[in-house]
Amino acid sequence: MLDLAIIGGGPAGLTAGLYATRGGLKNVTMFEKGMPGGQITQSSEIENYPGIKEVVTGMELMEPWPEQCMRFGLKHEMVEVLKVSKDEDCFTIFLATNKEIKAKSVIVCTGSTPKRAGFEGEDEFYGKGVSNCATCDGFFYKDKEVAVLGGGDTALEEAIYLSNICKKVYVIHRREEFRAAPATVSKVKNNPKIELILNSGIKKVYGSNMGVEGVIVSCKDGSDIDLKVPGIFVFVGMNVNNGVLKQEDGSYLCDLNEYGEVIVDLSMRTSIKNLYAAGDIRIEAPKQVVCAAGDGAVAALQVVANSH
Ligand code: FAD
Ligand code: NAP
Repeated sequence: MLDLAIIGGGPAGLTAGLYATRGGLKNVTMFEKGMPGGQITQSSEIENYPGIKEVVTGMELMEPWPEQCMRFGLKHEMVEVLKVSKDEDCFTIFLATNKEIKAKSVIVCTGSTPKRAGFEGEDEFYGKGVSNCATCDGFFYKDKEVAVLGGGDTALEEAIYLSNICKKVYVIHRREEFRAAPATVSKVKNNPKIELILNSGIKKVYGSNMGVEGVIVSCKDGSDIDLKVPGIFVFVGMNVNNGVLKQEDGSYLCDLNEYGEVIVDLSMRTSIKNLYAAGDIRIEAPKQVVCAAGDGAVAALQVVANSH
C-alpha cells in the first residue's frame, strides 16, 4: 500500500512528490504517462518563473526538476492512470497496464490539455499542418507563412515565437480585444511580421494527403479570406484532465464545478477525505507553473501533516 499516489508529473505533481518525501513519507509514487515535466515543456519561452533570470524554453525550465524532486525517495512509474476509486479506508489506482495499486492518499495533478476549435478539417489535418505546439512544429515552417488561431496568452506568445522562424504570422481572433496580458498584446501589435485578422474565425482548413494547403477565414462582415498557409496553430484554451476521477456510473469521485474543475479548499482538499487536487485541474487555478508547484507543495504538506 502506498502512503501517497501522485497522478501526473507536471510542476504540481513533481513538487508534491518533493514535499511529500522530504516531509518523511516513505512510500510515494508519481504516475506520469509521459516524460515528467508537464505541458510547459511545450512552451517556447517562459519568463515569469521566479529565480530564472534569462528567458528559457519550457523544456529547459523543467529539465532539472525530476532529479531534484526524486532526491528524497519519490518513485516514478511511466504509466497512464485510468481511474481512481475509493474503498473503505484507501483508494485504488487503476493503471493502463491492468495493474491495481492501493494508496492511503492521492493527489491528482493531471493538468489540462489544449482544446480543439471545431472548424472543418481540424481533426483530419491534425499533425499534418494543424498543430497545438509551436516549439514542436514551428521549424517545419521556416521562412513560410503560418496562421495562429486565438487571442489568449498562449496564442500571442506562440505567434511571437513563430515570427522568429516564419516569414509571416497571421493571428486570427474572433474579437477586437485580447485575453492575453497587455504587454504581450503590445509586443504582437509592434511586430512587423505579425498581421492581425480580428473579428474573424476559421471556417475550414483544406489540403491534400500531403498536408494543409490553406485556411478559409470567415470575417464578421460576411466575407471570406483564403490564406494559402501550410501551417495553422490552434491555441483556443485548455480542457481540464479530470478523466481519472470518472467512475463506472458516469459520476465523479469528488465534487467538480460546471467547467469540470475539481473543487478544493485552501489546503487542496477535495470533497473526499485524503483525496487532493493540485495545479491546473483545480478551481480558480491561475494556470501558471509557479502556482501549480505551490499547489503541489500545499497538498503534500497536508498529507504529511495527516500522517502524524
Ligand atoms: P500539467 O503541466 O498539465 O501536467 C500534468 C501532467 O499529468 C502531464 O505531464 C500529463 O502527461 C500527466 N497526466 C495527465 N493525465 C494523466 C493520466 N491519466 N495518467 C498519468 N499521467 C497523466 N505558465 C507560466 O507560468 N508561464 C508561462 O509562460 C506559461 N506558458 C505556457 C505556454 C504554453 C504553450 C502552455 C500550454 C502553457 C503555459 N503555461 C505557462 C501554463 C503552465 O504550463 C501550466 O499552468 C502548468 O504546467 C500546470 O501544471 P500542472 O502540473 O497542473 O499540469
Ligand atoms: P485562454 O486564455 O482561455 O484563451 C483562449 C483564446 O482562444 C481566447 O482568446 C478565446 O477567445 C479563443 N477561443 C476560444 N475558443 C475558440 C474557438 N472555438 N474558436 C476561436 N477562438 C476561440 O487560453 P490560453 O491562451 O491557452 O491560456 C490558458 C491559461 O494559461 C490562461 O490562464 C493563461 O493566462 C495561461 N497562460 C499564461 C501564460 C503566461 O503567463 N505567460 C502563457 C500561456 C498561458 P475569447 O477571448 O473571445 O474568449
